[in-house]
Amino acid sequence: MIKSIETILADVPTIRPHKLSVTTMNTQTLVLVRVRCDDGVEGWGEATTIGGLNYGEESPESIKTNIDTHIAPLLIGLDATRVAAAMAVVRKAIQGNRFAKCAIETALLDAQARRLGVPLSELLGGRVREALPVAWTLASGDTGKDIAEAEKMLELRRHRIFKLKIGARAVADDVAHVLAIKKALGADVSVRVDVNQAWSELQAMEGIAALQDGGVDLIEQPIRAHNKAGMARLAQRFAVPVMADEALQGPLDAYSYATAAAADVFAVKITQSGGLMLAAQVGTVAQLAGVGLYGGTMLEGGIGTAASAQLFATFADLSFGTELFGPLLLTEEVLQEPLVYKDFMLQVPSGHGLGVAIDTDKLGHLRRK
Ligand SMILES: [Mg+2]
Repeated sequence: MIKSIETILADVPTIRPHKLSVTTMNTQTLVLVRVRCDDGVEGWGEATTIGGLNYGEESPESIKTNIDTHIAPLLIGLDATRVAAAMAVVRKAIQGNRFAKCAIETALLDAQARRLGVPLSELLGGRVREALPVAWTLASGDTGKDIAEAEKMLELRRHRIFKLKIGARAVADDVAHVLAIKKALGADVSVRVDVNQAWSELQAMEGIAALQDGGVDLIEQPIRAHNKAGMARLAQRFAVPVMADEALQGPLDAYSYATAAAADVFAVKITQSGGLMLAAQVGTVAQLAGVGLYGGTMLEGGIGTAASAQLFATFADLSFGTELFGPLLLTEEVLQEPLVYKDFMLQVPSGHGLGVAIDTDKLGHLRRK
């Protein structure tokens, strides 16, 4: 039986300002959910968002309020071993709130996998890989600093895929910035861009043409998410793959984008999808439609990153890798044992459930009073 549900906000400074077209982050607010069951098993989930309402409709505070006030009361007393049935109750009564639902479902699945003595990946179809390639995002906004940061990551053998956040400046300035970095890092290093919807379709045609010529190998969400027809035109026009990210808020969007051939690659995010099971469906739609897969992040801490890794490890095809570097952007670790990054890969935790454990003392210091 589900006995209690606690939602915790923890403010953690980032290692440097993280510049996106929508906001600049100096702090990440982790939203953590702890579910306790009457058999003594507990599970953890995470609903962290990027820049709060700058990026999406849910803020850390709204997630906490909606879980505490509206979602938790529906779940207390329900059978903790029947996660799908419990989530059906929540999905029937609560519209939207995908991040909140993801955190709750993750915590319930974590508890159930621990109860069964298996890694969470085994409840999601079963893992087919033990390590995931991880991109790093260069988002200092300064070309020289970004090159130095990338070179350091290559030397540490931590990342060899780099994603650049662009879209806040004029197209020509952004293109010059990206191509200077691509030139400095060379042909063997993957350089990609994420425009976070900032361009018009005309700007995208100009920008993507120049980036493609310069050797950039992935273009993420160049235009507004609702402009599916425009995304389809760009995907058809250019050989460089165009990826949908903000456009995908669950399996129905994935289906709609796949049938419209509106993206070559999908960025799968567990929170954006509304939970692990729905994110798995996004992955299935992509694979049925021949769309490439990329494991996305909302810059979560260790819990959300481990949850994402448990799912992405089940994808048969993950040709564009992942960006599960969230914990590396934070100055403080909330896990007892940090996630392991080595040889350009995140090692998928192999213990029961999420395979990670919260350090409750550290979390106690970070949690918002
Ligand atoms: Mg993105």
